[in-house]
Amino acid sequence: MAIDGVVYKGPNEVAVEDVPEPELKTPNDIVIDVTSTCICGSDLHMYEGRTAAEPGIVFGHEAMGIVDAVGEGVTSLAVGDRVSIPFNVACGHCRNCEKGKTAFCLNVNETGDVPAGGAYGYVGMGPYQGGQAERMRVPYADFNALKLPPGNDHEDDFAMLADIFPTGWHGTELADLKPGESVAIFGAGPVGLMAAYSAQLKGASEIYVVDRVESRLDLAAEYCGATPINFETTDPVQQIREAHGGEVNKGIDAVGYQSVEPGDTRESDEPYDPTKENPGLLINQLIRVVEPTGKLGIVGLYVPEDPGAPETVSDMEAQGRLGIDFGKLFEKGQRLATGQCDVKAYNQQLRDLIAAGRAEPSFVVSHREPLERAPELYEQFDDREEGVTKVILEP
Ligand code: NAD
Ligand code: ZN
Repeated sequence: MAIDGVVYKGPNEVAVEDVPEPELKTPNDIVIDVTSTCICGSDLHMYEGRTAAEPGIVFGHEAMGIVDAVGEGVTSLAVGDRVSIPFNVACGHCRNCEKGKTAFCLNVNETGDVPAGGAYGYVGMGPYQGGQAERMRVPYADFNALKLPPGNDHEDDFAMLADIFPTGWHGTELADLKPGESVAIFGAGPVGLMAAYSAQLKGASEIYVVDRVESRLDLAAEYCGATPINFETTDPVQQIREAHGGEVNKGIDAVGYQSVEPGDTRESDEPYDPTKENPGLLINQLIRVVEPTGKLGIVGLYVPEDPGAPETVSDMEAQGRLGIDFGKLFEKGQRLATGQCDVKAYNQQLRDLIAAGRAEPSFVVSHREPLERAPELYEQFDDREEGVTKVILEP
């Protein structure tokens, strides 16, 4: 038996193909019928050939759906329940899970170099078949599946709970953002927008969002009360300092190692050009724009191995060893925190904000399309085309 899934074929190519039918493997598993599954900026690193991902991997770590099969050891879930599945696979009983650090579970990663942390459909994060597919197996299901209100209300909002809404919130937690504080957020992709939205929900006084994709900056202004900063115009740090009258309290990196220098001359639908990348750029900009003793939350992804790095990136940088202004960081007495989001630390509260009508993260969703359209939509999202912000695939 086989189902349709999004399969990585090699750099800049995915196809919708037959993939193995997910089955209950242990008594703690469930299998869900996927109703909504998103493409993530994290998938693009693999899609572009910028990770160790091998062709054949089934992508997808942002899935929700309806429980279709339940292992005999599962006690809290039944066939027909509507659930959101955190992108992290976690056991629930290791030292890190017990501390709430489910992104660093010590028991679920059987394939990566780093034992801490598992995810569906992701290189080096375990053997878990991805959720950009008709069905998905969820291990340790009592622990991992989050129950949602039945029906199909708020489907697009709840689809943001598997990753980007919690991850944006995590950015504000890593930066220790408090009500009344000011914050600079680099990146107005789905994660940066969710960080800005979270900052607004938490009562930040000023929110600056930096990017160059105008349609994304417009969303930051309209839905997050943010001041948009286009880094193609002039130095974004200078722009924020001028607008704010000095340094801000906190900073968030929602871009990661594929941050680019200004100087883009492409039309919006031309392919992405990696030769403008500067992997350490944003951390240095954050150090400059945040006040002494301020905190930096780094949720943008960094890798210890970038086999597809363009020639403009040095060998050291391609091993994740970046030119960071550590002396400045020391001088300013700043702190930084980073890593994958522990989705379970936030997803119940964020679900309840959505259910109560107090949060509508679906403002980032630009597309809901059939799974079969994945190849075109990967390409458009990868080009950061105007108006392509967050894509939901419907199997
Ligand atoms: P994305 O790649 O579409 O967003 C990145 C945005 O950054 C783009 O809009 C791009 O134009 C912008 N950008 C590039 N260079 C910049 C610069 N110099 N200054 C300001 N903006 C710049 O996708 P996304 O889904 O928003 O993901 C963002 C990052 O977050 C990715 O690295 C992704 O892997 C990571 N991520 C991390 C976690 C986690 O748990 N920590 C979870 C999800 C995603
Ligand atoms: Zn994701």
